[in-house]
Amino acid sequence: MTVDQDTRKALRWNAGLRSSETKKKVSGPDYSMSYACLTCKTANKRHVEGLPSDYPLKMQCPVCNGTMFNVGRHFKAPKKSDLTQWKKVQFLIEHGFLFQKIRLEPNSYESVPYPATLEEAREFVVKYRSWAITDTL
Ligand SMILES: [Zn+2]
Repeated sequence: MTVDQDTRKALRWNAGLRSSETKKKVSGPDYSMSYACLTCKTANKRHVEGLPSDYPLKMQCPVCNGTMFNVGRHFKAPKKSDLTQWKKVQFLIEHGFLFQKIRLEPNSYESVPYPATLEEAREFVVKYRSWAITDTL
């Protein structure tokens, strides 16, 4: 009976180890970023070794050889046919807004939502111009 109890204890211990390993993997230095190509109107996840800051702002698109922009981890690409939304995305990128988080207060979890329309984007790039990434283009 004692052997059984020990085995059970050991099993539980192993299970605990395994779950903490999984956790480490999730929060580890493994990131992937979306890169958007304005010509192809697609976004693809790319993986680069290292920290998010090691990801280049631009990459060459393997399809059209144009430029793909690093639009972060949470970018949702519009449909290819949604030209209005792609126009907005292009407008934002051209003004240095690559869907980076805009936090009005440092260390705040709240960030400014990105504009839904091109019209809103025109105001957005003016209002938040101090957050713009200026070395992208
Ligand atoms: Zn392309």
